[in-house]
Amino acid sequence: ATAVRLADVTHEYGGTGGRLRSGGDRTVTALRGVTFDVPRGAIVGLEGPSGSGKSTILHAVAGLLVPTEGRVEVAGTDLTVLSDAERTRLRRRHIGIVFQRFYLLPSLSARANVALPLVQAGVPRADRRDRAESLLEAVGLGDRATHLPGELSGGERQRVAIARALSTDPDVIVADEPTGELDTATGRTVLELLTDVGRDRAVIVASHDEATLSVADRIVALRDGRVDDVR
Ligand code: ADP
Ligand code: ADP
Repeated sequence: ATAVRLADVTHEYGGTGGRLRSGGDRTVTALRGVTFDVPRGAIVGLEGPSGSGKSTILHAVAGLLVPTEGRVEVAGTDLTVLSDAERTRLRRRHIGIVFQRFYLLPSLSARANVALPLVQAGVPRADRRDRAESLLEAVGLGDRATHLPGELSGGERQRVAIARALSTDPDVIVADEPTGELDTATGRTVLELLTDVGRDRAVIVASHDEATLSVADRIVALRDGRVDDVR
């Protein structure tokens, strides 16, 4: 079954109602007719130079932006036709996001960071705590549950972030340069974890890094916002 499908997706930043990063009234075309899908159980790697559109694709799949044209289907729903509230609900239920810079809340314990999406999902406190602890066990951090992010290494923080992304048991994980801040050996443990995670979900991972892309079952290579090659 297909977990994610992009069909003829085009995106322009800075168009009507949008905001440009820096001055002028130019628009930037970040994606041009991108089409690919991700079956359940597969890891797809997005490859391409900086500015080729990788992050824009991940944001579109995560429902963090609506592309100017085309369809983005997640778990059978086209999220480009949803209201903002419906799209947020779909994101919280079906999608886990892992960023290069982790984005853990520094004043919350590892356990509370992992449990946070479950607060939004309305899961009772005791259940949140149990689920957060078992996820931390699963990523090898059972003994770090009450540590603050500042007390953890980079690799441990990224494993906490992956546990957080898994907390709502999403169908789809999007990961943007997940090993970008990590040394090679630490990156490898994070990649093993992503490979495990991919087994019964769909994972889309964007990276420049050969080792990171090597965990993918399929590579979608981008150039100037177009799919240049699929292999
Ligand atoms: P990548 O992740 O491959 O580096 P991005 O998706 O971030 O590529 O960027 C694709 C293109 O869109 C680039 O030309 C980039 O400068 C532009 N872009 C990205 N975000 C914005 C934004 N918020 N406003 C304007 N242009 C943007
Ligand atoms: P303790 O119960 O000892 O404070 P934690 O700090 O790990 O242990 O938090 C346990 C639970 O409290 C978690 O399930 C988490 O969801 C919730 N929690 C803690 N701080 C917050 C917060 N600032 N916002 C939302 N939930 C929080």
